[in-house]
Parts: sequence; structure tokens; C-alpha cells
Amino acid sequence: MSARAWLKGIHAIAPDHMVRIMNVCGGHERVISEAGLRSVLPKNITLIPGPGCPVCVCPEEDIFAAIQLALKEDVAVAAFGDMLRAPVNVSPKEARSLEEARARGGTILPMASPTEAARWAEAHPQRQLVFLAAGFETTTAPVAAMLAQNPPDNLSVLLAARLTWPAVAGLLASGEAHFDGLVAPGHVATVMGPEEWAFIPRDHGLPVAVAGFTPESMLAALHSLLKQIREGTVLVDNCYPASVHPGGNPGARSLLNDIMTVVDAPWRGLGIIPQSGFQLRPPWDRYDARKRFGIQPDADRKRAGAMPPGCDCAQVVMGRIPPNLCRLYGKPCTPRTPIGPCMVSDEGACRIWWSHGSR
Ligand code: SF4
Repeated sequence: MSARAWLKGIHAIAPDHMVRIMNVCGGHERVISEAGLRSVLPKNITLIPGPGCPVCVCPEEDIFAAIQLALKEDVAVAAFGDMLRAPVNVSPKEARSLEEARARGGTILPMASPTEAARWAEAHPQRQLVFLAAGFETTTAPVAAMLAQNPPDNLSVLLAARLTWPAVAGLLASGEAHFDGLVAPGHVATVMGPEEWAFIPRDHGLPVAVAGFTPESMLAALHSLLKQIREGTVLVDNCYPASVHPGGNPGARSLLNDIMTVVDAPWRGLGIIPQSGFQLRPPWDRYDARKRFGIQPDADRKRAGAMPPGCDCAQVVMGRIPPNLCRLYGKPCTPRTPIGPCMVSDEGACRIWWSHGSR
């Protein structure tokens, strides 16, 4: 069905009360903003960006550790490109990001995939390379696949990967989740299966729709959520059937299970979320950069783990406030002069809103 037809259907079943719908993916927030969906939906539907930006929630202490490795240990550090500007809490005299570490002589390599990191390590056997692996399930499965190929020993992984659903589970358990329906991430469901989100209708009585990354798919998901709310039936509706199948991708899931185990993990600004992170299992833990370089949290760093002073990213990430209610939004925090990680990443809600004209 076309976007126009879905939109017509949405207006035909528009609720007579306020309905708040959260998305869990920076890609979805981009589709919503690029297509201007907020301006064409019925007025009483509010779309809330949620915890879908891996750069935003990547532990500050992991980025700090990567910077220290690059500057003090002569280790080459590889990361996905939008991690390079994510800021850490240090004095202005020190390198505040991987990009600044590069300007100070560190070897910082933006890379598009873990395979590229493995190739670099193979071509530079005399150098240690640490791959800072931040991301969600979709980017973590390729890390597991790369490790399963037994990459060279001079490569190690600083694993900062996270599962998406535990953040939503934590939000719902806290009683602070003020949404009436959830758009679940299509690419995560492609890997892990839509069943991961079944706890929301089952335990919380809220509808879920899995969406892809076109305005049509997003509108189909919104239509499904409004229909479920109207009819009082709640389930996980797969509105991205071309890619999402029951059980997800068995090969990717089994690789993840073989190479990694799920552990409690810190999210930047949010603290520890139970069973939300990954850790390498033996024998793959020989590639664990934390073990190889003895990386420990530094007790003297007072703002370790926190957002930069004044930055409301943690509130934005959990959908408690929209980006433009942060005191620093647009003054002085902009994509050119980012203060928090949500203004750095292409998947950060602040950057997406600013880039699409929310002033
Ligand atoms: Fe953080 Fe900047 Fe967003 Fe405010 S506008 S929440 S400072 S990233």
C-alpha cells in the first residue's frame, strides 16, 4: 500500500484522545523526520524517539579507555565513523573524543565493518588494533561472525554492544514509560526475531508493531498500533514481513550465542541495565581488549559514565523529554558544536531533529 493510502487509513481511525507512540531506532526516527510524518498525522498522535542510538548509550568509560589506548599505549583504535566525535568528560586540555585523539597523534581508524578491522590487523601484524564495537544486535552479529573466523592475534575487541529490548523493559518496569504503543526496530527483529518484543503485550498490555525503514512501512506500523489500541487487542504485529521472520536469523543468533554471553551492562547516563550487554565467551575472550590491556574503570574519574554537564541525552534517549527541551539544544549544542552524543550520531535524536529543522 502507498504512504498516502496508509495515511488515509490512519486518519480514518484517528483516536479521540492523546496517543503516544515510541520508536526504538534512530533509523525510524530519521524516516519520521525526513518524511515529515509528524506534520501529517492526526494532531493527537505524538511520536517519541526512544533508546535507539548506540553512540548515545555507549559507555563513556569505554570511549575514554579507547582514547587512552591510542595515546598512551601506541595501540591503533578502530571504530564506526560516528563514534569518533562522541565526547567524554575530561578537562579541555585532554582529548575529548577519538577524533581529538587522532589530532594528537593517535592512530584512530574509522571503519565500516569488523571484517575491515580484521583485514587491517592482518596487513599490520606489528601493530595492536583494538576495535571499539559499540552497537546493537545488528552490528554485534557481524562482530561475532568476524571472531568466528579466527582473526589475527594482534586484533582485540572492546565490546560495548547492547541489546535493545532490555532498555524498553527497564523503562516499563520503572513506571516512567509514558507511551501507548511501540514501533519495534525492523533490523533487530530481522536478526533476533519479533518474539523478543512479545513481553510488551503479554506483561504490559501494550501493542507493538515491527517496522521497516520507509515511510510506507512506518505508516503501516502506526496504523497497526492505532487499530490495536482502538480494538483493544494487543500483539506484536510484523509490518516488515519482507525481512522479519519468526525466530529471526538462526545463523546470526547461533553465532551470537556461541561467541558471546549476555551480561548486565552499563548504558551511558542510565546506569546498569540487567542482561543488556554482551561479553566474549572462552576461548573467544582471548580477543577481549579489556583483558589484554588490563582496562579497569578509573575510580578517580568523577564524571565517568555520565553525560557531559548540562546534557539531557539520557532523558532524551529514554523518551522522557523531546530533544528540543534540552536546555542546550541549538544553543550551544548543534551538529557542528556537539556537546552530547545525541547531537553527534546520525542515529541521535537531537541531531536528527536539528538536521530536519526542529528549532
Ligand atoms: Fe545532549 Fe545536545 Fe541533545 Fe542537549 S541537545 S540532550 S546537550 S546532545
